[in-house]
Amino acid sequence: MFDFVDFLTTMFWGPDPKRVPKLTEKDNRRAAMTVRRSRTSAPPPAPLAVRNVSKSYRDGDVDRVVLRQVTHPFQPGLTLVVGPSGSGKTTLLNLLAGLDQPSSGSVEAAGKPLKYDERSLATHRRRCAVVFQDLNLVPHLCVRENVALPLLIGGEPREEALRAADEALDDVDALAWAKRYPSQLSRGQRQRVAIGRASFARTMLADEPTASLDRESAAEMMELLRKLADQGRTIVVVSHDFELASQFANEVLECRDGVLTRRPVDNATDDYPTAHASPPPAPLLEASISTTERVPLSGDIS
Ligand code: ADP
Ligand code: MG
Repeated sequence: MFDFVDFLTTMFWGPDPKRVPKLTEKDNRRAAMTVRRSRTSAPPPAPLAVRNVSKSYRDGDVDRVVLRQVTHPFQPGLTLVVGPSGSGKTTLLNLLAGLDQPSSGSVEAAGKPLKYDERSLATHRRRCAVVFQDLNLVPHLCVRENVALPLLIGGEPREEALRAADEALDDVDALAWAKRYPSQLSRGQRQRVAIGRASFARTMLADEPTASLDRESAAEMMELLRKLADQGRTIVVVSHDFELASQFANEVLECRDGVLTRRPVDNATDDYPTAHASPPPAPLLEASISTTERVPLSGDIS
């Protein structure tokens, strides 16, 4: 019941101190800790990073240096890597994918240096899918089976894998071709299927996904990659076509003479971290994704 006397007393003299719950010592400590943590805690580590990575290949008697002491955190969003032919773009993607090892320095996934034993690499490849230039679709499997393949290899029951494949195909507007074989598709359609197959991973690396496509299909491809990036994935795209691809990128890096340089882009998002040379933050959370887990549709990437 409304207590008029109590109301007036509170109005004029403030709340009765006997009735206001007192904070205990423990509450105070907890509050202080929360404030301290929010002031000092490092941001989550980049899903993928290179730290002081150098890569050289033996060329006859000499070591040819392709990448020199490259450090860069790849944040959620779409990062475009441009640069002249032979500048090391594919080498960088291969290192990020764990397909090749740096000569020195480290590749990091969610703040942890990549290990090159079979088990660690298998985990990394589930999280970090590569769309190769030649797409690697299996010719005697239909589109749906091609997309379900990583899930089937991961031990997913066939029915569930095919259902997840249909969802992924729907996401990339390729469900209509689910029963076709790769040879019955155009280059652009095959590209879309390969991207659908990679979309189970939180991190995607695509090498020249717009090569051999006409202008319109190339733009559609970049639009699709941007859509997938906006769903919370970290996507690194190598492209020759700066003019087109940069319109869709959150960040553009130029690879030249073994060095990565950040190029300004008009459409870069404000919250995208700056300073490509800044070292990735201290190791923290470990990203985890099972073969069956779809990427969350928000920005929760860690
Ligand atoms: P990009 O993708 O920018 O065109 P790459 O990363 O493919 O360039 O290649 C960079 C340089 O490294 C090239 O000069 C290439 O010849 C050399 N290279 C790449 N892979 C190897 C390899 N496995 N062995 C020797 N040299 C290589
Ligand atoms: Mg290349």
